[in-house]
Amino acid sequence: MHYPATFKTDLIDWFKENQRQMPWRETTDPYKIWVSEVMLQQTQVDTVRDYYMRFIERFPTVKALAEAPEKEVLKYWEGLGYYSRARNFHTAAKEVVSNYKGTVPIDPIIFKTLKGVGPYTQAAVMSIAFNHPLPTVDGNVFRVWSRLNNDDTDIALQSTRKRYEHELLPYVETESGTFNQAMMELGALICTPKSPLCIFCPVQTHCESYELGTVLELPVKKKKIKKKVLHYNVYLIENENGAYLIEQRNEKLLNNMWQFPMVLEDENTTSLKSKFGPSLKISETKSGVIKHQFTHMTWVLNVYKASIASHDVNIQDTPTQWLGPNERHHYTFPVSMSKIYETFCKRNAQ
Ligand code: SF4
Repeated sequence: MHYPATFKTDLIDWFKENQRQMPWRETTDPYKIWVSEVMLQQTQVDTVRDYYMRFIERFPTVKALAEAPEKEVLKYWEGLGYYSRARNFHTAAKEVVSNYKGTVPIDPIIFKTLKGVGPYTQAAVMSIAFNHPLPTVDGNVFRVWSRLNNDDTDIALQSTRKRYEHELLPYVETESGTFNQAMMELGALICTPKSPLCIFCPVQTHCESYELGTVLELPVKKKKIKKKVLHYNVYLIENENGAYLIEQRNEKLLNNMWQFPMVLEDENTTSLKSKFGPSLKISETKSGVIKHQFTHMTWVLNVYKASIASHDVNIQDTPTQWLGPNERHHYTFPVSMSKIYETFCKRNAQ
C-alpha cells in the first residue's frame, strides 16, 4: 500500500521530537551502530544500554575487538545471553580487520557476507550508518505495518517478511535510517502489543485497523511448535575449603562457558561418582529449581548440594576447576548458572 507523502513526514517529525535518547543514536560510527544492533536482538533497550557502554569502552574499534581473546569478549557479554551472537560478531570483526583493513564495509552485499549478519542486521546497520535504502523488519515493524494495512496474514511466514520488505521499499529511498528507526520507535512507544496509544499516534489518520476497530487483533502470528523441555540435575559440589567444582562446556550450545556439573535428570549419579571419586556425597533434598528459556528449548535445572574431598578431584583435568570464594569474576557463566550461583552460593559472592 502506498500512503501519501504526509505519512512519512508525520512519522519522522514525531520521531525527531519523541525518540528516546540512546548512546548509539549519538554516533554515526558503523561499528558502534553494529554493536548496538547485535546486542538489541532479543534483548531489551534498558538492559543493552549499560552493556553497550562497557563494551564500547573496552572495544572502541573493530580492531580492538578483533584483537581481544574470545574469553574476554564473552565476559563483556555475560548476562546478555545468546552467546553465539558475541562469537559471530567477534569472528566478523576479525574478518573486517583481515579483509577490509579494519573498516566496516559500506557495500551492503559485502557486509552481509560477514559472520552473523542476517537481513535484519544488514538493513539496520547499512541504513542507519550509510542511509542505504533497505527496510528493517523487526517485531515492532511487523506490528505497525500489519496494523496500518489491516493485514491479517501470518507474520511468522517468510513470505510475509518478504512482502513487507517489498512494500516498505518506497519509504526508504531517502532518509532510510531515520524512517527505519521511526517505525521501530513507534512500535516500541505507541503501537505497543496490548495497549496501543492510538490517540497519540502520529500516523493514526493513515491507519486502516484503527478505522476498522481491528487493532488488537493484529498482528496475526500462528503458534510455533512447542519448545523442547530438558530436565537436568545440577550439583553444587563443595570441598572442605568452601570452593565449588565447575566444568567448562564442550558443546555447541554455550561452548567454553563454565557451569556446575550437570546431568540429565533421568541419568543416575554413578557416572558422577566415577568421575569425581568415592568421597562424593550428594544431598537427597533438592535445594531448588531454576528454569531457563532458550529460543528453541527450556532447561529445568534441579539444584542439589554435594560435598567432596578436594584430593579426590584431579583439576589438572583441564575442563574442571575449583571456584573459590571471590573468584566468580574469573569465569564466564551462562545466565542459568549465574542464577544458580547467586541463589545458592551467595555467601561465596561476598
Ligand atoms: Fe498503531 Fe494505533 Fe497508530 Fe494504528 S493508530 S499505527 S494501531 S498506534
